[in-house]
Amino acid sequence: MKRLFITLAAVVAFFQLASAQEYLPKWQEGYMDIHTIATGRGDATLVIMPDGTTLMIDAGDNGKKKDKQHPNDSKRAGEWQSIYMKHFMTGLPGNGKVDYAMITHFHDDHMGAISEMLPGSNGYGLSGITLVGEMVGYNKLLDRGYPKYDFPAKNVNGANKKFMEEYHKFVKYQMGLGMEMEQFKPGLLNQIKMVHNPKKYKRNFEIRNLAADGKVWTGKGEKAEKQYTGDPKLFDENVNSCALRITYGDFKYYNGGDLSGGNWPSYKSDERDMETPVAHVCGDVDVAKANHHGYYDTCNGAFLNIVSPEVLIIDARSDNHPVPSTMTRMTDPLVWTRQPEFYITVDQARGKLGEDLWKHFKPWGHIVVRVYEGGEKYQVFVLDADKLDYPVIYKSDIKTAGK
Ligand SMILES: [Zn+2]
Repeated sequence: MKRLFITLAAVVAFFQLASAQEYLPKWQEGYMDIHTIATGRGDATLVIMPDGTTLMIDAGDNGKKKDKQHPNDSKRAGEWQSIYMKHFMTGLPGNGKVDYAMITHFHDDHMGAISEMLPGSNGYGLSGITLVGEMVGYNKLLDRGYPKYDFPAKNVNGANKKFMEEYHKFVKYQMGLGMEMEQFKPGLLNQIKMVHNPKKYKRNFEIRNLAADGKVWTGKGEKAEKQYTGDPKLFDENVNSCALRITYGDFKYYNGGDLSGGNWPSYKSDERDMETPVAHVCGDVDVAKANHHGYYDTCNGAFLNIVSPEVLIIDARSDNHPVPSTMTRMTDPLVWTRQPEFYITVDQARGKLGEDLWKHFKPWGHIVVRVYEGGEKYQVFVLDADKLDYPVIYKSDIKTAGK
């Protein structure tokens, strides 16, 4: 009898220990989840809208071995992103594919690269957007260049030219299988919209395209205006990034790819402040992804104070994400009066930043913003980026949206 009791006690203790591990509670209709997926090789965000419609923003893989990959090096970043997305898309309405995929701009850390590319069997190489496209699939894909890819010049992105050729082949092949393709146009309202139950959320959900191709929404109707003078070929790919704002009830989220907020000596033009005009039409949001990974030329004071998120996410893949000068600016209450909670996907910048700057961050990992029914409250979860069952390693208090 005594032995049985001890065995039972051991079994109970085991289950208590096992159940101590917390996981993200399952998505349910009415929730909006925004996952910033941590691989350490490039940006990837998955949005699950309140009706279950999915939007993937970027699927990056810079193919650089020096950037530490998570959870490990046994697969490519696109495979890890696909495995993650399939895990959290299980049980959603639809055909299992991502309803909308978009690329903010044509750089490897947002769409994939020729280096470390897998050969594939459909006539194009697999990395980033093409790899996730094969493993998960897209019903519709948007980018800033389709169909002509001629802005600001015929070769829209010299730096990633070889992979762009693979990408064009991918698009052609997938369109033959039924994938829809569209150009992301600045100013448009609901170019990306719910596909499963839009009527139910008609009054409290919208997606506004804020910027693309150096043009920014004017704030009136669906008009957009160019922000530069002179030759657009002087500008780098980053300033042409697509930016959008998602609104659900009182809650607002901003993502603007690698938009720049000012000049940086390595670039030719001194007209690189896209952040300030975008901030003016975007207005105050609850959660923002920092532009350009918190690099030197980004997150200027005007942008921070106008957009003024309660939660700032840095999607990082190098020891310059963020750079110390930008982190110093962002954490200076004289620059940015309303200090947010800082979140980051990987810890590569920790050494360069030093503990005084690093201490502002919550534990690093996959970052999930869960907006509760109606968009009045939200909460941030951080999931372990090195474990394949994605345990929760941090969760914020429940926040009121629109404050
Ligand atoms: Zn980037």
